[in-house]
Amino acid sequence: MALSMPRKRLLSSAIQYRSYGTVQNAASGISISSSNALQKAIAAPAPRTNWTREEIKEIYNSSLSELTHAATTIHRQFHDPRAIQMCTLMNIKVGGCSEDCSYCAQSSRYSTGLKASKLSPVDAVLDAARIAKENGSTRFCMGAAWRDMRGRKTNLRNIKQMIEGVRGMGLEACVTLGMIDDVQAKELKDAGLTAYNHNLDTSREFYPKVITTRSYDERLNTLRHVRDAGLNVCSGGILGLGESDDDRVGLLHTVSTLPAHPESFPVNALVPIKGTPLGERKMISFDKMLRTIAAARIVLPTTIVRLAAGRVSLTDEQQVMCFQTGANAVFTGEKMLTTDCNGFETDRKLFEKWGYYPMRSFARQGLSGAEVPAQEGMKDEKVEVTERAAMTV
Ligand code: SF4
Repeated sequence: MALSMPRKRLLSSAIQYRSYGTVQNAASGISISSSNALQKAIAAPAPRTNWTREEIKEIYNSSLSELTHAATTIHRQFHDPRAIQMCTLMNIKVGGCSEDCSYCAQSSRYSTGLKASKLSPVDAVLDAARIAKENGSTRFCMGAAWRDMRGRKTNLRNIKQMIEGVRGMGLEACVTLGMIDDVQAKELKDAGLTAYNHNLDTSREFYPKVITTRSYDERLNTLRHVRDAGLNVCSGGILGLGESDDDRVGLLHTVSTLPAHPESFPVNALVPIKGTPLGERKMISFDKMLRTIAAARIVLPTTIVRLAAGRVSLTDEQQVMCFQTGANAVFTGEKMLTTDCNGFETDRKLFEKWGYYPMRSFARQGLSGAEVPAQEGMKDEKVEVTERAAMTV
């Protein structure tokens, strides 16, 4: 059948030729293969903290096939691609929070039907940590719904006991307790805390549309206190808040240009909670989520990229694409704070089917805490990563 004229013109203008493995557009002569920034990222021998926002934008906007391929390549340079860390997050103090985070079921400003509680007893928390460990988790995270730690001396004392107990089981211990100052960060470090989670959530520009009760700079101050105390920083974002691609780039730019990359970067997909201002939003599309994970892996090559809230909505195949692209930690168990979570058994089957295994605790370079022998396939990589990290730009 003869082609109509416009279709013919479309085809001829799209004719491309190969040159030394790079597909080029005949009309423009511009390479549509890897962007410059992407190629530079692949060639970089060590993590960089001098990324420009333009470079990250270029990486983020590369064709998805090039982007994910580059991310996979970098992931394999810095990590054991089969090891996924299993973490369990327990809500140790539910609801009643004074903050106005528009996505959160635990804010006292929204009617979400959640009943507020006091801090859980230490024994109950340690029982939950034991169950998590028996089921393969190597990191136990404890979250409390409040603004900050001011005037919470008794709570802090109990939380320190929880941290000591969790560490006593050989697990990595992480807490998320809102804003903390330098003294509190030091106390938590002395109690044996491995990491402190405090998400930046989104870009600096979009942030005021989501939260008004504390500023972006206050969040960055908490990260500084955590870092200065010698704790590992866990800080990531939430996708699907209504932010643009540029906001996701902005978030990646902020975290990748901190004085040191966070040890952990959680990627959450908004789980809309009825009663909150964002309760009617749809989940972010998978391609945008994958794009963000891939870009994160590229600009934060040694960081653990943590697939967090919203994973329960992904198919097995989508999760595996995330793992291939650089995500190497998941939250597993009954609940993730107030949202549903993929269960231990479900994850065990997923790992078995696709050839992944749980990462050991403290298996990664630079993570403070007891040294645990590297697992199969990790030993050489560990040495190599240490050498690379020593060359940080
Ligand atoms: S996200 Fe944290 S700080 Fe914000 S309202 Fe929820 S519990 Fe409070």
